[in-house]
Amino acid sequence: MTSVPRPGLRAVEPYAPPQLDVKARLNTNECPYPLPEAFREDLARAISGLDLNRYPSREADELRARIADLHGHAPEGTWCANGSNEVLQQLLQAYGGPSRRALTFEPTYAMHARIAWATNTAVVRRDLTEPWTLRPFDLEYPSTARADVVFVCSPNNPTGNAQPVEVIERLAERTHALVILDEAYAEFGGSSAIPLLERCPNLVVVRTFSKAFALAGARLGYCLAAPEVVEDLRRVRLPYHLSALTQAAGLVALDHRDDALAILDAVREQRDRILATLPGLGAEVFPSDANFVLFRPSRPADQVWRGLLDLGVLVRDFTELIPQALRVTAGTPDEVDLFLSALEEVVT
Ligand SMILES: *Cc1c(COP(=O)(O)O)cnc(C)c1O
Repeated sequence: MTSVPRPGLRAVEPYAPPQLDVKARLNTNECPYPLPEAFREDLARAISGLDLNRYPSREADELRARIADLHGHAPEGTWCANGSNEVLQQLLQAYGGPSRRALTFEPTYAMHARIAWATNTAVVRRDLTEPWTLRPFDLEYPSTARADVVFVCSPNNPTGNAQPVEVIERLAERTHALVILDEAYAEFGGSSAIPLLERCPNLVVVRTFSKAFALAGARLGYCLAAPEVVEDLRRVRLPYHLSALTQAAGLVALDHRDDALAILDAVREQRDRILATLPGLGAEVFPSDANFVLFRPSRPADQVWRGLLDLGVLVRDFTELIPQALRVTAGTPDEVDLFLSALEEVVT
């Protein structure tokens, strides 16, 4: 007998950007630099001291306290999970679900709508127009759409623009929905909405160790919210969801936070170099507060994507979401050299 999955499941493709072995992997916004030797040594020491025969700290108390401290937020309002994507999933398990609605402002991170769908939450999409800033009438949309959850991403992936904090505040004030603000790129630019948490109990700010902390492989993300929201997440999380290995990696990463932050300037420098150079190659660029740049090359984007790949440079093709648009991650100076020379070759 064959079994039948939920209706519509097989119409959906797995979320799977290519993981190719090329010279410059500039398609998933990772930190291009390996972790420093001192971090590796401390991590090895921390891991060798773990009692892996025992379950990990169920509430990840130490890690949550350290993250809370970092942001001057209450530990009871701080929550960690396996990547910010799992934080988002838990938020949707608690605040979405059957007969509930999630609103997205498109174009944005595809996982928001995907996680809503996966948790049986209806998705309402509102298209923003270039330059993708929320305008006053967009702020009324959560009410008119009767949304239970609203996603905002700032700085936004894939467009790179940040929303002003005052706009986030007005959005949160005008709705009863849970406003999930994805700040995966906040360390690179824009202003954080974390100071709003005190007066906006329906706001959740979601952060990740995957980008600025150079720890994509460890799978660690967190959110800051009102303690009641974190209590709700504890009701849906799996017991011991965050392994002792992950908790240890997070604590060591926090010890080495200054090293991680020191890399940010180098990454921003390469981003600004891409922004400054692309117009000379005939491309249209969009301002970016993140570690990537969205651009429109002067020749058909799908051909340019392929041509770059043939020269060993993998960028992200966003043409299905935004006409003619490609996104490139700010890599090391060498990777950016390679990208710029490959692009020149492909478009001339
Ligand atoms: C990369 C990214 C994340 C990170 O997800 P993790 O699960 O923490 O690796 C989250 N949100 C956005 C918008 C991203 O681009």
